[in-house]
Amino acid sequence: MLKTNIQSIISLRKLSSSQNASIKGSYDVIIAGGGMVGCTLACAMGKKALLSNLKVLLLEGSLSQRFELKQEYSNRVVALNQNTKSLMKSLQVWEHVEKMRLQPVRYMQVWDACSDALISFSSSDILDDDVAYIVENDVLLHAIDKELKTSDVKNVEIVYGAKIAGYELPQINSQNSESIVKMSNGDTYKCQLLIGADGANSAVRKAMGVQYLSWNYDQMGVVATLHLAEETENTTAWQRFLPTGPVAFLPLDSKRSSLVWSTTHAHAKELLKLPDEQFVDALNDAMWKQYPRRGAVDACTMWVGGLLRRAGLPDGAERQLPPSVRAIAPASRAAFPFAFGHSTKYIAPGVVLVGDAAHRVHPLAGQGVNLGFGDVKDLTDLLADALYTGLDISHHSWLQSYESLRQRHNVPTQLAIDALYRLYSLDIAPLVLVRSLGLQLTNAFHPIKIGLYDDGTPAAQA
Ligand SMILES: Cc1cc2nc3c(=O)[nH]c(=O)nc-3n(C[C@H](O)[C@H](O)[C@H](O)COP(=O)(O)OP(=O)(O)OC[C@H]3O[C@@H](n4cnc5c(N)ncnc54)[C@H](O)[C@@H]3O)c2cc1C
Repeated sequence: MLKTNIQSIISLRKLSSSQNASIKGSYDVIIAGGGMVGCTLACAMGKKALLSNLKVLLLEGSLSQRFELKQEYSNRVVALNQNTKSLMKSLQVWEHVEKMRLQPVRYMQVWDACSDALISFSSSDILDDDVAYIVENDVLLHAIDKELKTSDVKNVEIVYGAKIAGYELPQINSQNSESIVKMSNGDTYKCQLLIGADGANSAVRKAMGVQYLSWNYDQMGVVATLHLAEETENTTAWQRFLPTGPVAFLPLDSKRSSLVWSTTHAHAKELLKLPDEQFVDALNDAMWKQYPRRGAVDACTMWVGGLLRRAGLPDGAERQLPPSVRAIAPASRAAFPFAFGHSTKYIAPGVVLVGDAAHRVHPLAGQGVNLGFGDVKDLTDLLADALYTGLDISHHSWLQSYESLRQRHNVPTQLAIDALYRLYSLDIAPLVLVRSLGLQLTNAFHPIKIGLYDDGTPAAQA
């Protein structure tokens, strides 16, 4: 059920004791949160010539992990789009990912379990390049970390296991633009620009006291690593919209795919408890089972299909058959709650938000972290321009441009994903008809389909 939750404004602005505490370090920029977005931002700040004189501190709460590329894939993967690939290439991160492992998506099929409607994307039809890339989160993080630690990056210090106790942010209209970051071990840092990359429960956002619009989806995402029944090239991403939510298989290699199955909380809990063989049966059912159909919807889509065929346009009748699952990787099942989140402000004096700290989406369109990488690209470009023209690092004008630029991109994307979720979460005939015709027509008209790619973002999970 849709529940709008405007989070209470938690002000951690006043940590009066910090005024007198001794400052352990003074930085131009402090990035709170070293997830995929925070680490990429730190790397970009080290590599961009105009930013490489800035003294940057990256604070990450978890301990530094020793990375080892295991034979079995991690169950946490992301679908990265072409814009993200370009950013990662510009930071020399992509070559590390390629050396470890990634799987290109060259074809994507999205279809409705309640009708014959289907949309497909293929790299040869639409793009001159791959549709997307499936990369394990820890492979990407390790690749970024490798680049962060090269001699090219001289201006970034990293503290792992950093427990941040609170922030003292500059007051509005105050001359002072410094933020104070207070650690639970008593250390205190100060900076001219504080960047919140600390994820969906961002403490930086809470300290800013901005409004955060959020609601939980009545869904959880069950993830697992799947072993497929047959070995193939496996460069197709499959997503089927079931009445309970979308189920997606994302290719990993010739015989393995990664599962993201969005379903009700109760069903997700059941799925987690099933013995492996029964879970595999449930998965094969999810991809293959025939759901009850509505005669009127089928008649309409057949009629429109006929019209499209006569006009020489794709009618969506040609479809590929999804793979069957043979087994799942041991202990690879897990579930995550899904929610929508939008921070009405991405900026405050001397403070800026990036990634999930600013925006959170349902992963049905595989966009969450891609939006965050877009923030990184625009933030570093705008900051470099601002410094080049002699503006101060925390000058309001470039921060304002960042907020406008990113909200103009992120908010419509978030709303479109939310609308898609709602359109597919009900199984009533008029809605099934509307979405089926929408999918059929989008699939038939090349310019509309290509339009879905205009910003490098694929339409669905992959
Ligand atoms: C099942 C699932 C599938 C997904 N699939 C896709 C996909 O295909 N494509 C896609 O683009 N996105 C996908 N996403 C979304 C994607 O995972 C997120 O958008 C992404 O992880 C956000 O990255 P982030 O760095 O902004 O935040 P996070 O990953 O949340 O990182 C925040 C970091 O900040 C640190 N931190 C937090 N608080 C503190 C503190 N007080 N002090 C110090 N450190 C702190 C945390 O330790 C963490 O490392 C998916 C999400 C889920 C759940």
